[in-house]
Amino acid sequence: MIGALVADEVRKIVMPLADDTTPAGDIHYDLTHPRRFDINNKAQKFDFAPCNCLMVGAGALGTYAGLALTVSKSIRKLTIVDPDIVEETNLNRQILFYDDAVGKPKAPELAAKLAMLSTDVDIDSIVSHVTMEHVRGVDMILSCVDNFEARAYLNHLVGQFDIPLISGGSSAFGGDLAVYCPGKTSCLDCYYGVNELAQNELNTRASCADVPEASIVTTNQLIGTLMVGETRQVFHKPLVGVIEYDTFHADRLGIRSMRSPCQCHLKL
Ligand SMILES: [Zn+2]
Repeated sequence: MIGALVADEVRKIVMPLADDTTPAGDIHYDLTHPRRFDINNKAQKFDFAPCNCLMVGAGALGTYAGLALTVSKSIRKLTIVDPDIVEETNLNRQILFYDDAVGKPKAPELAAKLAMLSTDVDIDSIVSHVTMEHVRGVDMILSCVDNFEARAYLNHLVGQFDIPLISGGSSAFGGDLAVYCPGKTSCLDCYYGVNELAQNELNTRASCADVPEASIVTTNQLIGTLMVGETRQVFHKPLVGVIEYDTFHADRLGIRSMRSPCQCHLKL
């Protein structure tokens, strides 16, 4: 995660953009602090049990989250669900797809590459859109999808099944992540109206298959690794609020939309 921040600052030096800004100050990151980017002087020990994780989406976010999950020993089983095939325009940011990967399904390609990095994690893949059947028996879900329709569906599913959801999103110049633990935090609809965004998207769906900006790599690395950090807190002190990164903002990283837990899951 720090590596991604450094790389994005290097990008501003070697490939500057008109809207770039000078950083307002140092960035501190502390996973044990409720606000994440403040300093907590008391180091806290994690009591963490490796769990069974479903990752929905095997694109750029899924690539970086999958890498961090696999090497961090924070899970014992990882199931990757994605219906898409690898396209040539994906290769600039989905860095584990190379050689003859183009034209093959993303989920098993990513699973095979991650399996080469660790024998400690049982890695499986499913070539499909996510369904209710996929969430049965999992301990947590990482949403690495690229559209609001899928986020809204996952938000609904985790409320129904009482499973924590860590949801990320990214663009070439920023990204965000939110954690929904039913009964403990706010859901994605209360945080940022994911249901309405999904409805609007049905009419204006824009493909993000081709994102030529080099900065797309660093934003995905940053949000993907921040998501994996949250897997360690999700059963203890889950994130309250939405973490946002904006490459052009002087503050770069911060939390917004802190709210009380919602009760939407009780209406399902
Ligand atoms: Zn809600």
